[in-house]
Amino acid sequence: MKDLKVYKKHDGQKTIVKVKNVTFNDGSFNLIAGPCSIEDRKSLEKTAQLIVKNGGKLLRGGTFKLRTSPYNFQGLGKEGVELLYEIGKKYNLVTVSEIPSICELELFIEKIDIIQVGARNMDNYPMLKELGKIKKPILLKRGPSATIEEWLLAAEYILNGGNDQIILCERGSTTFETYTRNTLDLSAALAAKKLSHLPVIIDPSHGTGRADMVSDFTKVAKFLSLDGAIIEIHENPDVALSDGFQTIDFKEYEELVKSL
Ligand code: PEP
Ligand code: MN
Repeated sequence: MKDLKVYKKHDGQKTIVKVKNVTFNDGSFNLIAGPCSIEDRKSLEKTAQLIVKNGGKLLRGGTFKLRTSPYNFQGLGKEGVELLYEIGKKYNLVTVSEIPSICELELFIEKIDIIQVGARNMDNYPMLKELGKIKKPILLKRGPSATIEEWLLAAEYILNGGNDQIILCERGSTTFETYTRNTLDLSAALAAKKLSHLPVIIDPSHGTGRADMVSDFTKVAKFLSLDGAIIEIHENPDVALSDGFQTIDFKEYEELVKSL
């Protein structure tokens, strides 16, 4: 195997990422669930209630959506951030949302518990440098065409600034395959786990683009001793405003949690 650079701060110790009542890299498996896009208060609240009922601690929700087409739903923006903040607080859930650009940094620092850097921004180096200066956990997705080394070096940009609260997330690569939206690269997740001191999770929703694969890959992530998964759930995926085809419904979510 190609020898990768030795990453800074790798003194043999794992880096524990801690936010409120949630810990990553202590051997626990953390399931992050929620809608692709936050749509309205009622649906987000129902999702939060479901997660709490099933013992979950983390709620995801897209706010400023980075969509391929400008004609698709772009998210509720700041209103979505406010909703996530309010519902997260009300139900004592740790919140996760993707920051679209450096312009929203103050808003996200104030309102979001774990700031997600999406696949499209993995190599936005000015943004990574700014995220290195803050004290919030960062969920760093692997870019769709990034090598493992490029992904780990993106994390180094944040680490180098002094923020070691980083969760790496494998979310699939763009390949020649069309049956799946992306090719979920479990070998990359295992490589990152081996090479890095940071916690590693997978996103089987974006990683496959297929609702029928989400639960199984989440179970596989646990079997592989990864640190968790981030998945898209919706009461009725058929009418979700984005990514319904890769979203599992509430019943399947409950079954998944039970089997984990
Ligand atoms: C997301 O998690 O909402 C998302 C858009 O993911 P990615 O950046 O991996 O496409
Ligand atoms: Mn999505």
